[in-house]
Amino acid sequence: MNIHEYQAKRLLAKYGVPVPRGNVAYTPHEAVDAAKDLGGPVYVVKSQIHAGGRGAGRFQNNPDGKGGVRICKSIDEVRDNAEEMLGQVLVTKQTGEQGKEVNRLYVEEGADIKRELYLALLIDRATSRVTIMASTEGGMEIEEVAARTPEKILREIIDPATGVMPYHARKIAFGLGFEGKQIGTFVKFLSSLYKAFLELDASLVEINPLIVTGDGSILPLDAKMNFDDNALFRQKEVVEMRDLDEEDPAEIEASQHELNYIKLDGNIGCMVNGAGLAMATMDIIKLYGGEPANFLDVGGGANKERVVAAFKIILSDKNVEGILVNIFGGIVRCDVIAEAIVAAAQEVELHVPLVVRLEGTNVEMGKKILEESGLTIIAADNLADGAEKVVKATREAA
Ligand code: GDP
Ligand code: MN
Repeated sequence: MNIHEYQAKRLLAKYGVPVPRGNVAYTPHEAVDAAKDLGGPVYVVKSQIHAGGRGAGRFQNNPDGKGGVRICKSIDEVRDNAEEMLGQVLVTKQTGEQGKEVNRLYVEEGADIKRELYLALLIDRATSRVTIMASTEGGMEIEEVAARTPEKILREIIDPATGVMPYHARKIAFGLGFEGKQIGTFVKFLSSLYKAFLELDASLVEINPLIVTGDGSILPLDAKMNFDDNALFRQKEVVEMRDLDEEDPAEIEASQHELNYIKLDGNIGCMVNGAGLAMATMDIIKLYGGEPANFLDVGGGANKERVVAAFKIILSDKNVEGILVNIFGGIVRCDVIAEAIVAAAQEVELHVPLVVRLEGTNVEMGKKILEESGLTIIAADNLADGAEKVVKATREAA
């Protein structure tokens, strides 16, 4: 799960990380009030969307205009810029062409930037440990730094038994060019950040840029946080920050039916039971030259209602041009799945080829239900056969 920049800053502040003062605004009027509270002389009005690259982004209605982060020198300018941005679609490198509508702004006090650095904590999958990443090349995308000047990225892997030790923090501090009093300040900054990361079950905290101001203070100018979905049950405060407007409607619908659905970019919809089988199904579709449109695990205890919902979600994706159902009936019975497929196909008016591979408990009953349904279903005998058939049928239908 992701949250907005202003929410991340609010959480970090609770852990003792110093953050610039600011307030969220949903209307130009609220933006003006927020700015009056801050008192100036410089305000920054920042679009709040779940995507980075806002500063360099452009609004769809005014591609030659300014980006999603505006520096303002008066209350009037704050009002004008808030009016320009709210309700408009911001396109950045990370949003894709369709962009994201800006419905919230963060009005922050302006900072006197001397240096822009990069600092992140993330879970490194290779070592299964929290890793600190830092760079003197802040303000630009870290992927770009990694591609052009990989030697400028510092990494420290943290042993979970010890947590961040002062020597880790000092090493990074020296690498970032901090001197004197700043070293101690940074050590404290990093340990607060690490504590927030652990206690909030974050999977990523990215500060880009981390700035050094004219008077030598160290401040996060931007903050991005991602959280481990499996830990949300114990993160009430984080869950309350969820902004459903930022999430894929199909994924929200899926989570309401306890379906694990992730939308992808391909054209072959998949409905599978079991996460491992779902991964294998996606792999084998690719092996036969197709592109999966989604990951979908209907779960071991899938009932008819859930399968119908799953079908509708798959078909709500306009890119889907063929569907592969791959069910191994263990706990979930093949006849129940077959009934659900028939019910769903009738309800949603199936207009794309459907390949079904059923195996396991009550498979014969399931196959009979499908045969007698009058639906055009391509039966498959095994996983490879199913993948090959769906790729072929999708191509021919297109
Ligand atoms: P992003 O583009 O989505 O990553 O948004 P950021 O919060 O990182 O802002 C983009 C850029 O705007 C930063 O890298 C800064 O250069 C600039 N910026 C943001 N806040 C201020 C500020 O208070 N003062 C100044 N001078 N520049 C700012
Ligand atoms: Mn940034």
